[in-house]
Amino acid sequence: MSDARHALHEHFGFDDFRPGQEDAVRAALDDRDVLVVMPTGAGKSLCYQLPALMRDDLTIVVSPLVSLMQDQVESLAARYPADACPVALINAQQDVAENRAVLDRAVDGSLRLLYVAPERFSSPGFLEAIRGARVGLFVVDEAHCVSQWGHDFRPDYFRLADAARWLGARAIVASTATATPEVARDIVVRLGLRDPVLVSTGFDRPNLSFVVVPCGSDKDRRQRISASLADPEARPAIVYAGTRRATEELSTALTAELGVEVPAYHAGLSRDLRASVQRRFMGGEVEVVVATNAFGMGVDKADVRTVCHDAVPGSLEAWYQEAGRAGRDGAPARALLFSCSKDKGLHVFFIERAAVDDGVVDRVAGAVLGRAIDGRYDVFASDLGDEGEQVRAVIGHLARAGVLQPAPSGLDRVRGRVVGPFDSPARARALASAAEGQRARWRQYRTVWEFVEGSQCRRAGILRHFGDEESPHPQVPCCDVCDPSLVPARPGREAALAVGVGADDLDGAIRHVAAQARPAVGRTRLVEILRGGRSKGLLRHSYDGLPVYGQFDHLGKDAVLGRVDALIDDGVLVSSGGHYPVLGVGPEALAA
Ligand code: ADP
Ligand code: MG
Repeated sequence: MSDARHALHEHFGFDDFRPGQEDAVRAALDDRDVLVVMPTGAGKSLCYQLPALMRDDLTIVVSPLVSLMQDQVESLAARYPADACPVALINAQQDVAENRAVLDRAVDGSLRLLYVAPERFSSPGFLEAIRGARVGLFVVDEAHCVSQWGHDFRPDYFRLADAARWLGARAIVASTATATPEVARDIVVRLGLRDPVLVSTGFDRPNLSFVVVPCGSDKDRRQRISASLADPEARPAIVYAGTRRATEELSTALTAELGVEVPAYHAGLSRDLRASVQRRFMGGEVEVVVATNAFGMGVDKADVRTVCHDAVPGSLEAWYQEAGRAGRDGAPARALLFSCSKDKGLHVFFIERAAVDDGVVDRVAGAVLGRAIDGRYDVFASDLGDEGEQVRAVIGHLARAGVLQPAPSGLDRVRGRVVGPFDSPARARALASAAEGQRARWRQYRTVWEFVEGSQCRRAGILRHFGDEESPHPQVPCCDVCDPSLVPARPGREAALAVGVGADDLDGAIRHVAAQARPAVGRTRLVEILRGGRSKGLLRHSYDGLPVYGQFDHLGKDAVLGRVDALIDDGVLVSSGGHYPVLGVGPEALAA
C-alpha cells in the first residue's frame, strides 16, 4: 500500500481515493502548485487536507465562508484528542486570546492545518505574526472567487497570491467547483500559479437527473415544487429561492402543502436560528429547507435527494454548484430548475443596476480620496453614495486599478489605504475593470438562458459549458430533454382527469365549471377560475377547489373567453340573462 493510501486510511478511514484525489495529493506532497477543478461533492477538501496532515510544516487554508471552515475544522478535529489537535481556525468570531493561542501553535509547529478567513491577509499584524511559521501549502478554496469572470468575485481574494509568496509558502493549492476554462486560466494568472498540476475529474454527475420545468406563474411554480417534493423519497431536499422574501413565502406555502415543517434560511435571520435550522436539517429532523444561496457552502449533507431552484439563478455556474449538493452519496438524486420567463426581466434589471458609469467612478474615487487622512480612509459607505452594492463594486475596480487597497470592514463601512494616484491611466484601468465585469454578467445571462430555453440534452450542455469533453454516462434518467417524463406533472391534473377533463380539453373544463360551480358563475369568473385567479370573490366561494381550477393558466384571458363565447353561440352553454347573467349547461350539452 502506498504511503498516501495508508495515510488516507489512517486519517480518514477511507479505503480508496476518488478520481483525481491521488494525483492532487502527490503533487502537493512534492511542493508543486496545483489547480483542482472538480464538481461539488467530488471531494476537493481531501486533496489538501491529506497532504497537509502528511507533511511536517503548516498548511494555511483560505476559504470565503466562516461556516464552511468551521464545519471542516470540526469534522477533522473530532478525530483527535483535544490537546493534540493539529487543526485550528482563526476568525473574527473567536476572541483575541483564542486567536492568539492558535497563532502561537501555528508558529511553534504543533499545527498542521490552519483555516483563515481571506480578510485576515489585509492585516499587517496577522501577516507579521504568522510569518514566523514554516508554511508549506497555501490553499485557496473556492478559488473562482479570485476571478471577476467567476460568479462570486471577492475583492478580499486579491492579495492572497502576494501573501502566499511573502510567507514563503512552498506551493499553492487552488480548488474550485465552478471553473469554466476561462475562469481556470484566470485563476492560474491571478494566483500566480507556477507550472501548476491541473487535476480535473470532469463535471458529469452521473447519479443526478437534471430537469428544467417551465412554469406559467408563481402559483404554478409553487404547486409544482410542492408536487415534486410530496413523495417522501424525494427528501431530504433543499429549495433555493432568489430573495429572502420568496424564501419566507415558500416556506409558509410548503409547510402547509407538504404537511411537514419547512423552515426558511437566509442571511436576515439571527445566527442562532440559522444554526438551528442547519443542525436540524443535518440531523434529519427537518427534511426540507427553503433557502437563499447563503445556505449550502457549509452544508455537507450527503443524502440530499432533491435540489429545487424556485427561480433561474444568475449564472449556470451558480446553479450547477447549488444543484450539485444533491446526491453527494452517489445514490440517484434530482436537480429541478423551475423557470419562469419573468426571471429574465429580473436578471436584466439587476445587471443594468450593477452598471457603473464614468460619473460614479469619479464620484466615489473623489469622495474616498477626499476623505483619506495620511493615506488611509475609513468612511461610512452611505457617505459615498446611496447604492451600497455599487459603491463596493467601484471600490473593487479602484483596487484593481491600483488606487486603493481595501481592508476588511463591516457592510456599512469602507476602509483601507490609498496606494496610488487616481490619474487618467488609473481611471482608464478602473473603467476597463467595470466594463469587463459588466460583459461577464451579460455573458452569464446569455449562457444561463440559452441553457434553460434550449432543447438539447442538459447534461451535454453542462459538460460543454465547463469544457469537459467526455461523453456523458448517466446512471439515472438523464434530463427532461432526454426523458420528458421527469418533468413533474402539473398538480391538479389528476383531479381534472378524475372528472373526465383531459389536459387539453378546454371545452370540457368550461362545461365542467358551468355545471358544477356553486353559486353558478358568469363568463368572466369562469375564465378566472380556469386561469387560476386569486380574487377575493373567487376564493370566498372556494372556486379554487374545483378540480379544473388553474388548469389553463398558460392560456391568455381572451383565448379562454373566446372558447366560452363560442360554446354559448353553439348552445352548449346558456346564459341566464339579466343584470348578473350566470352560465349553465344548455340542452346541446345534455344531448351530447
Ligand atoms: P467538495 O469540496 O468537492 O464539494 P468535499 O471535500 O466536501 O467535496 O467532500 C464531499 C464528501 O465526500 C465528504 O463527505 C467527504 O468526506 C467525502 N469523501 C471525500 N473523499 C472521499 C473518499 N476518497 N472516499 C469516500 N468519501 C470521500
Ligand atoms: Mg469544498
